[in-house]
Amino acid sequence: MNETLNERLLIILSSPSGAGKSTLARLLAKDDPEIQVSISATTRSPRDNENEGKEYFFLTRKEFESQIESGDFLEYAEVFGNLYGTPLKFIEDCQMNKLDVVFDIDWQGSLQIKNSKYKNNVVSIFILPPSIKELNNRLHCRGADSRSMIKGRMEKCKDEISHWKDYQYVLINTQVDEVMEQIKSIVSAERLKRSRRKGLANFIDKLNNELKDNDS
Ligand code: 5GP
Repeated sequence: MNETLNERLLIILSSPSGAGKSTLARLLAKDDPEIQVSISATTRSPRDNENEGKEYFFLTRKEFESQIESGDFLEYAEVFGNLYGTPLKFIEDCQMNKLDVVFDIDWQGSLQIKNSKYKNNVVSIFILPPSIKELNNRLHCRGADSRSMIKGRMEKCKDEISHWKDYQYVLINTQVDEVMEQIKSIVSAERLKRSRRKGLANFIDKLNNELKDNDS
């Protein structure tokens, strides 16, 4: 099917913190060699299990601001008091290497990408937790943040959920396996959209020529 496809997808996953989008993004890329996880830059300090260039590129605020000035970000936003942004070069490289990209970013970043030069190739998915109790449990269980940070993330939750209508798809993450299958179905269907398959007209010409040859 890929001979008729020449534009790659930008798959955006957003959700309240703790609803599971970063796990889903990594699972999606793990199962599909044509999908790359976008690695963001951030001014947040690394957590114990995070490595430079793997989960994030960790920058000082000064470095981040200088990269904003240079136009190095496809999008950026302040989230929970830290700056987060998508390096433009990373996305350009993925496009050149014919890779779809999956993003784990907030609603502000999603809005900016939807207004960027890539807008026609955006697939936006909002992930909801099955309940607020479950969201709270997940934030505590992952043990990544202090109690006060978790409190802050829960307070922001209402604001984040209020953006659900800005997304093309809304999924409820009750079971990771189930929501993963739903995301894969969305990606398969989006890849097959006529509007994205710029090579289709040539393929139809080829079929018509074959029909002519068949007649003669
Ligand atoms: P965390 O600190 O838990 O890794 O991420 C906090 C929030 O920042 C999450 O909602 C995450 O989706 C968002 N985020 C991570 N990277 C980016 C980015 O590059 N751009 C934007 N706009 N948000 C991001």
